[in-house]
Amino acid sequence: MSKQILVTGGTGYIGSHTVVELQNEGFDVVVVDDLSNSSIEVLDAIEKITGKRPAFEKFNLTDQEKTNAFFEKYRRIEAIVHFAAYKAVGESVEKPLEYYHNNLVSLMNLLGSMRKHKIPYMVFSSSCTVYGQPEKLPVTEDTPRKPAESPYGNTKAVSEDIMRDFARATEGINCIALRYFNPIGAHPSALIGELPVGVPNNLVPFITQTAAGLRDELKIFGDDYNTPDGTAIRDYINVVDLAKAHVVAINRLLNNKQKASYEFFNVGTGEGYSVMQLVKAFIKATGVELKYSVVGRRAGDIEKYGPIPRMRIMNWAGRLRKHSKKH
Ligand code: UDP
Repeated sequence: MSKQILVTGGTGYIGSHTVVELQNEGFDVVVVDDLSNSSIEVLDAIEKITGKRPAFEKFNLTDQEKTNAFFEKYRRIEAIVHFAAYKAVGESVEKPLEYYHNNLVSLMNLLGSMRKHKIPYMVFSSSCTVYGQPEKLPVTEDTPRKPAESPYGNTKAVSEDIMRDFARATEGINCIALRYFNPIGAHPSALIGELPVGVPNNLVPFITQTAAGLRDELKIFGDDYNTPDGTAIRDYINVVDLAKAHVVAINRLLNNKQKASYEFFNVGTGEGYSVMQLVKAFIKATGVELKYSVVGRRAGDIEKYGPIPRMRIMNWAGRLRKHSKKH
């Protein structure tokens, strides 16, 4: 029987695209999700795209009993890709305890289960938010981490530390954290994409929902940043490329190519675009007149992650791919 990959948060945005890429590569996938920010129909879409429906269990991974029961039932799991987490920066400022509890307890339950059930590998969904507002751009893996700007960011930094310490201390456990820049876009089939429950927090789903008439207008959070047009800059990466980076990381672990029990990689494109550039590009590409207005900065936001617009510096997803092929 083939080994299985557990994808937590597998009906979510990046999770669902990663399930598709893993299944396309022939992996047998089981999804765990509590459906708190995604919908069960995503599984139908994954089945339509890949011809295969992943196994599915609905529960929240902070529940230790349910987590234990899950691993008793699924005995062929060899690696975990852990996405399941709360992810809204602004909300985390309002509800820090909920964020720390959900994001940290679920990780610790999973790591404990790895030790108990001898599951050697984890790929963890981290974020470039661990760099805070860096002194120098572009951000590389040598850039020092900074105290997080939000409780959400801090859950990612603390999760990385927990994983690093646990992997170091535990024979046979190997983890890779992928620090994403800003994933956007959708699978070319348009059957899956970014479909948050309720009002979107992220820029691109807010733009598309406004264009589709579901929201009145886009609010641009701040135009007084120290950037060419005053709006904040991010490095936006296509979600399918990001999903493929997870397959690369899984293969790196399964083929024992990792250089340390805990590794981390940035995953972005190396190109930065401002909020205003994105909005204008969307209007130009779709011909839809998007209603927008500028409001104050959002709590917990930083100025920029990407280099200045249009300067191509490096491609981390590409580098990660090359890096693992070399061995
Ligand atoms: N943003 C905005 N209006 C929105 C949502 C986001 O102006 O309705 C801005 C936000 O302030 C940031 C950029 O868009 O500068 C990307 O935000 P997102 O939440 O997508 O990603 P993150 O802040 O986590 O990088």
